Amino acid sequence: MHNDIDRILISHDRIAHRVRELATQITADHAAGEIVIIPVLTGAIIFCADLIRCLPMPMRIGMLAVSSYPGKTMQSGGANLTHWHIGDIRGKRVVLIDDILDSGSTLRLVRPQIQAMQPASLKTAVLLRKDRPAAREVQVDYVGFDIPGVFVVGYGLDYNDYYRNLPDIVTLKRAGETRT
Ligand code: 5GP
Ligand code: MG
Repeated sequence: MHNDIDRILISHDRIAHRVRELATQITADHAAGEIVIIPVLTGAIIFCADLIRCLPMPMRIGMLAVSSYPGKTMQSGGANLTHWHIGDIRGKRVVLIDDILDSGSTLRLVRPQIQAMQPASLKTAVLLRKDRPAAREVQVDYVGFDIPGVFVVGYGLDYNDYYRNLPDIVTLKRAGETRT
């Protein structure tokens, strides 16, 4: 599997440092009282797991799943909401967490549906934001890293469901051919 890696774009050490900085920002913005964290499965699980352990306030966790890269494609294929496991968030302060902002279709799909549940506030955190016009059109509150428009895996991000367990964020060699 490590033979498939082209290069490390963001090392685990840099990620860990940045996650702590984001947690400090989120804590400052949600000073008193509890929050509800909603990671978008599956890609956001590692980021979410590290982030929430740096957050001191009481919290509950909801979850939702969106599929946007079915199978072995590297193009965003439009987002589909596949699972929804969120309790009552009316009047709660919600932080939505996604791994990467690319075309923006995931957040455009999900945020109105969360907003319709009438939370007191809804903030969005993404670990990565790709350098493309579509991504910049979508407003987000917390961004870990701005990256070039390349396909990345690791730290939760997959190709055909593999590589999520890599500690670093990496690019793949000839990614379309590395795993069957
Ligand atoms: P969007 O809906 O903004 O196009 O993309 C968001 C979702 O597409 C992310 O949550 C992620 O699952 C997937 N995605 C977008 N870019 C990449 C990428 O470079 N690598 C991987 N592994 N997934 C990506
Ligand atoms: Mg995703």
